Amino acid sequence: MRILIVEDEVSLADAVTAILKKEQYFVDTVYDGKDGYDYAVSDIYDLILLDIMLPRMNGLDMLKAIREQGISTPVMLLTARTEVNDKIKGLDCGADDYLTKPFNKGELLARVRALTRRKGEIPTNELSFDDIVLNQSTYELSCGSLCVKLGAKEFKIMQMLMFAPKNIISKDEFIEKIWGYESEAEYNSIEVYISFLRKKLGAIKSGIQIKASRGVGYYLEENKE
Ligand code: CA
Repeated sequence: MRILIVEDEVSLADAVTAILKKEQYFVDTVYDGKDGYDYAVSDIYDLILLDIMLPRMNGLDMLKAIREQGISTPVMLLTARTEVNDKIKGLDCGADDYLTKPFNKGELLARVRALTRRKGEIPTNELSFDDIVLNQSTYELSCGSLCVKLGAKEFKIMQMLMFAPKNIISKDEFIEKIWGYESEAEYNSIEVYISFLRKKLGAIKSGIQIKASRGVGYYLEENKE
């Protein structure tokens, strides 16, 4: 697995580089968008971690440019909490995911694993956590031999939870990613879908729980039995 990091905040870039190298990934690190573009178009990477505000060429322009060159490498944007609009633009420009700064090591590694896996390590296109498996092609959630089909929004919520299990995903993040920044969706829309998902987890007899955290967001908790 070879990963390209494009981030001008040198201390952050170097910290992420060190974490990924320790996990046996091959890592190249560059500090501006122009170098990022030159490296990315070599098409040797399995994943690109891309900052948005970058010198010489910003991250979104770089992303658009590499997609125009036919580079389909998964891209995870590294965004500041204030760059909500850029996240949405980024997903429109062909980013696959985003990670909001500051992030912790566990969250980073979970997302990196999910994105590199998507490129081909597990051909079945499944996400798994504890006793459940989510099929990303058929939207089926299964536990052992029991299986339920998820609706489109339920699927996206479950997918976001399973990308970074145990990390709290805020209601704002769900709304931005599922309904879009301009949408009228409210927090209680999320609550409704979370309650559907809890029922479906019960229906397949999974021990996993979707926990609410202080009104901020939700996370998955594994089976404690
Ligand atoms: Ca930056």
